[in-house]
Amino acid sequence: MQTAAGVYQARALIWAAGQTSRRLNVPGEEKFLGRGISFCATCDGALYRGREVAVIGGGNTALEEALFLAGICSRVHLIHRRAEFRAEKLLVERAAKADNIVRHMPAKVTAVLGEKRLSELELAGPAGPEKLPVAAAFLAVGKIPANALLAGLVPQDEAGYLLVGEDCRTNVPGLFAAGDCRRKPLRQLVTAAADGAVAATAALAYLRGA
Ligand SMILES: Cc1cc2nc3c(=O)[nH]c(=O)nc-3n(C[C@H](O)[C@H](O)[C@H](O)COP(=O)(O)OP(=O)(O)OC[C@H]3O[C@@H](n4cnc5c(N)ncnc54)[C@H](O)[C@@H]3O)c2cc1C
Repeated sequence: MQTAAGVYQARALIWAAGQTSRRLNVPGEEKFLGRGISFCATCDGALYRGREVAVIGGGNTALEEALFLAGICSRVHLIHRRAEFRAEKLLVERAAKADNIVRHMPAKVTAVLGEKRLSELELAGPAGPEKLPVAAAFLAVGKIPANALLAGLVPQDEAGYLLVGEDCRTNVPGLFAAGDCRRKPLRQLVTAAADGAVAATAALAYLRGA
């Protein structure tokens, strides 16, 4: 393995490079990371109980995040850059029925504003620019699995997640993959840690020739 610090040789390797969240790339976004900008409603939603929040995105994740937050927040602004959602019909219908989900579409966030914490989003919508007073903005505009280095070596799905089974073995002997970088139904600390244990055990078995 060639790294910035030198070349390392090993008989087995566990790839656990995770993923990163796509950003909006608008003014103020970096400043309010962790101070109102969040990427996970189930992780941070409870911090905004009873408050007005926004979800940005139009896929299944955005709709699921909005529905989850609608159960604990006073109002959820769902902001999507297109006129149609790219989500399952059932989720779209459930969101349409929720009294406290307000849709803004097609609309784009143009800036994130506030003093010490996020307090407003600036939007460009069909009716022109507007400002939404919100305590948090949950970004659901996609994830980027950090698997570029394995392209052509380990098969990936259309989103770039490694196609590796529950045993964490890849198609390459001695190469294992664990955590958020692989295709799986739930990406959380507990499932990543479980993968780590499975991959380490599988790597040990491989080294022992089992
Ligand atoms: C903001 C946020 C809040 C979260 N809150 C929760 C929570 O409350 N509860 C929960 O269960 N889960 C939460 N999660 C999800 C949880 O953090 C992940 O599921 C878990 O960390 C995945 O572990 P991982 O080891 O697969 O990847 P990561 O923790 O992402 O670790 C991957 C590591 O690999 C490094 N890396 C990437 N590419 C390379 C490379 N080419 N070479 C060397 N190193 C590389 C990265 O820098 C990183 O250090 C949260 C995630 C985020 C982003």
